[in-house]
Amino acid sequence: MLFEAQGVTKRFGGLTAVSNLSFGIEKGEILGIFGPNGSGKTTLLSLISGMLPLTSGTFKWKGEEIVGQKPHRIAAMGIVKTFQNPQLFSELSAFENTAIAGHLTLKRRLGSRRLTGFFRIDRSIEVELAAQVDRDLKLCRLDAVRDQPASALSYGQEKMLGVAMGLMCEPELLLLDEPASGLGSEEIANLEAVLRDLRTRGVTLCIIDHKVGFLGRLSDQALALRNGQLIAIGKPDEVLNHPDVIEAYLGRRHA
Ligand code: ADP
Ligand code: MG
Repeated sequence: MLFEAQGVTKRFGGLTAVSNLSFGIEKGEILGIFGPNGSGKTTLLSLISGMLPLTSGTFKWKGEEIVGQKPHRIAAMGIVKTFQNPQLFSELSAFENTAIAGHLTLKRRLGSRRLTGFFRIDRSIEVELAAQVDRDLKLCRLDAVRDQPASALSYGQEKMLGVAMGLMCEPELLLLDEPASGLGSEEIANLEAVLRDLRTRGVTLCIIDHKVGFLGRLSDQALALRNGQLIAIGKPDEVLNHPDVIEAYLGRRHA
């Protein structure tokens, strides 16, 4: 198992946002996490990526506990979260925004020389970084807007740039928070193609969304949350047809 959550719980005062959750993610799969608004999806990704401390429970990465690590350490291990709406430098190009996101990778490569190296980057590293940026932009279907300022990008392209920036950290497990929200059907089809390509390249994906069609088609394994609790886990079809899941989405009347 690449990643495991065991009895994970997060409380905010009296509210239990994530409640005693256990699941695993196999290398190379796409895990889809479903749940209506407020079911604890974003909180779960913030816990995994180390941005929020757990109340109780544990995470294991390649068999080792990673609880209590700082977000940058977790990212350096290969667990990377893309932002729902990335913070872009609007006057910088798609290429430049993506290159900036490469700093983590660069720091890892340069190791202890990282600070001096960062300001006096040697030419070969610069060339390698640029090649990586171009590879990630192409993978995200952004090569045509490589030199456009971020301010000129469509909303869908902005979100895709967020994925390209995440890829610069060389994720083994990429966490995506509602990547399809606000996108039109053509942009969603494009996003699906990109995410399938990533899986083909060996990146494991954990995607949360409330769009059941999009995520149901894409996922190998699905997990449904309601009020922070796991209500179904298994194949996407089974999970989405589970009576508790239907009820969570549509209310008791429709169950
Ligand atoms: P989702 O992403 O599924 O819509 P969230 O994880 O954002 O759900 O929220 C789950 C619950 O936790 C909600 O009731 C929300 O109001 C609450 N919550 C999330 N973050 C915080 C926080 N920082 N402080 C207090 N309550 C929070
Ligand atoms: Mg959310």
